[in-house]
Amino acid sequence: MAITIALAGNPNSGKTTMFNDLTGSSQHTGNWPGVTVEKKEGRLKGHREVVLQDLPGIYSLSPYSPEEIVSRSYLVNDRPDAIINIVDASNVERNLYLTTQLLELGIPVVVALNMIDVVRKTGDEIDVKKLEQALGCEIVETCALRGEGSVQAAERAVALAKNAAVTLTKNTFAPSKNTITNTAGNAHTSSLSKEAPRFLNRRTAFSNEVEAALDSIGSLVRELGAVKDKVAGKINNGEAYLRWLSIKLFERDAEAAKDAGIADTAEGKRVLAEIEKITTAVEDKLDDDSESIITDGRYNYISDIVKQTVKRKNAFALTLSDRIDRVVTNRILALPIFAGVMFLVYFIAVSTVGAWGTDWVNDVLFGSLVPDGVANGLAALGTAGWLNGLILDGIIAGVGAVIGFLPQMLVLFVLLAFLEDCGYMARIAFILDRIFRRFGLSGKSFIPILVGTGCGVPGIMASRTIESDNDRRMTVMTTTFIPCGAKLPIIALIAGALFPGSMWVAPSAYFLGIFAILVSGIMLKKLKRFSGRATPFVMELPAYHLPTPGGVLRTMLERGLAFVKRAGTIVLAATVLVWFLSSFDTSMQMVDTTDSILAIIGDKIAVIFSPLGWGDWRAAVATITGLIAKENVVGTFGVLYGFAEVAEDGAEYWPQLIAAFTPLAAYAFLAFNLLCAPCFAAIGAIHREMMDVRWTLFAVAYQCGFAYVISLIIFQMGRLFGGGGFTVGSAVAIVFILTLVWMIGFKKPYAVPAGERLSGAPASEVA
Ligand code: GDP
Repeated sequence: MAITIALAGNPNSGKTTMFNDLTGSSQHTGNWPGVTVEKKEGRLKGHREVVLQDLPGIYSLSPYSPEEIVSRSYLVNDRPDAIINIVDASNVERNLYLTTQLLELGIPVVVALNMIDVVRKTGDEIDVKKLEQALGCEIVETCALRGEGSVQAAERAVALAKNAAVTLTKNTFAPSKNTITNTAGNAHTSSLSKEAPRFLNRRTAFSNEVEAALDSIGSLVRELGAVKDKVAGKINNGEAYLRWLSIKLFERDAEAAKDAGIADTAEGKRVLAEIEKITTAVEDKLDDDSESIITDGRYNYISDIVKQTVKRKNAFALTLSDRIDRVVTNRILALPIFAGVMFLVYFIAVSTVGAWGTDWVNDVLFGSLVPDGVANGLAALGTAGWLNGLILDGIIAGVGAVIGFLPQMLVLFVLLAFLEDCGYMARIAFILDRIFRRFGLSGKSFIPILVGTGCGVPGIMASRTIESDNDRRMTVMTTTFIPCGAKLPIIALIAGALFPGSMWVAPSAYFLGIFAILVSGIMLKKLKRFSGRATPFVMELPAYHLPTPGGVLRTMLERGLAFVKRAGTIVLAATVLVWFLSSFDTSMQMVDTTDSILAIIGDKIAVIFSPLGWGDWRAAVATITGLIAKENVVGTFGVLYGFAEVAEDGAEYWPQLIAAFTPLAAYAFLAFNLLCAPCFAAIGAIHREMMDVRWTLFAVAYQCGFAYVISLIIFQMGRLFGGGGFTVGSAVAIVFILTLVWMIGFKKPYAVPAGERLSGAPASEVA
């Protein structure tokens, strides 16, 4: 029989790291909430009968965020056989808040005291034996990052689940996969001393008034239809469930009432009214609302435990992490440092180290080795002319042009993975939160954007952590402005071909993305449909640490592989299509590219882009194919500009590109392609998150419109200041600039009715 073990813990406690370690999978770890929005399943290495569920990171079991709802409904309704609760040992107080709630579920819990390496380094001491006794559950010290203790934690969880399962057969309760009982005395005997094991009965003790109220609530709901079944043993540990439910009802948790089937029946409603009376009486007496009463109760309880078990070496000493943060998150220095870091990232990846690799791949591998080899092979085989054309001018020129950028991409991915893993990216979210809040935007909106630097799809999905519908929609619409991995080839191509030796072009693409997000955020937030209070944003800043090379390489390979896969599928297919359409005319005769079907269609579309400086049909076609996958932009260039070049002197098509574009037009082209609607996959993700066709269309229209305006401003203003003379285009660009300035600086925001207005709570920094 399969055993299911859930991994639960606060965001950033190291859950994903442990999950990967235990299952051998390579889920992406990240330093911000939202990386694990959905639960993931894997099997324990070497023990396929043990299923591990990685739950989203949560701070509590209250239904405040989608993660908490996902985790809670899984724990309460699906009842795993045991829980490994990952606790960040360097921040015990905060983490035990969740632990106390998990213990109340009545499911066997093993606490993995993770990041124990950090604790040891600071010289703090945790009396694990005492903490085990206080909590009434086993504790295993772990350092998931180095794979220490994880397996023991899993072993203990399995043992607990099995022990309980054995008990089950002797019990009167109906046996089923998820029904385990662990009555005190037989469920938990291992590392707790021989004295009475206290797994089950240990629970947060609240004040006398609250305990009395919880008892009364318990007796009121105990006999209600659905609850009765559960208490009588349909689920594990009925009494624990009753206590848990009583606390939730005291907190007026509507979800819990609905889940327990109380909210819908007439009898249930009557009972809820009774409970309301009990709750109000306690609130009046203690002069606080019920939720705060419970929260305070928990924190008091935890703080007692911590006082007895944790000894800080020097409570006031600054850790190295704190010292780095003094500089890195400093009010004045934070932004310049962030700009400097991102500049370096793009400079190294696109302009220097990565570019050396790319040059070799482009000039040597796809420039001569591959095409020469294939051309000779084809000549030897005596293949037909059209087939040679398809393979050399189509596939090798197109796919080769895309793959050529792999070295730059790998370097970018390594650097980003390093920044994520060492903890710096979390600081960026924190720094940008400060700026965002000044404009009434939630810093939470920036997390999806940071995730989107790899790929827009998970970025868009990460927006689920944003509670407010308005903010979430706005974030979904703007996330893909940040250049994802697939846009890197476009950046690298334009920077390399048209701005050789320039340091600023590649990094500027990243800053253009941030600028677009900020400007869009400010403008959209002023409209009624995006108005409303900003979502509170709280996140932990994990201590800095050196990432493991394995972790960084794994992330790099994963993303690199995804890129190669796309090159071999979507890009390949698009390349073949582009080659076909650009080689034949309407009567299916092979013709010069300029007379092809694609040239005829492209010419019509290109008119739209003329005001942006790149009314060339080939650029228009590349932009359109980019909507399928952004790599196609470069692939299409490879085919359309590389024609006739390949067979003669290699796939080097840059001279043709340089002849077709002025640097200004090329930059306007880059800006449009970075900001316009993303690829099909990301548009699909937008649709899934919006759950509405009109919203999806609005998002795509906004992205394209915004891209058009920015690209037009860049080209027309560049032209004007470059001495190009004042034209209608310049006038239109000036009107756009004035409109943007008015929207950002002068337009009054939609007035949110009183009572709703509240700006976001500050991101709290807990080192
Ligand atoms: P999750 O949000 O709980 O899934 O946490 P992650 O697994 O993404 O880990 C958050 C960060 O903490 C990552 O940068 C990990 O590399 C790091 N981390 C995880 N476990 C440990 C550990 O035991 N010690 C240290 N020093 N860092 C860890």
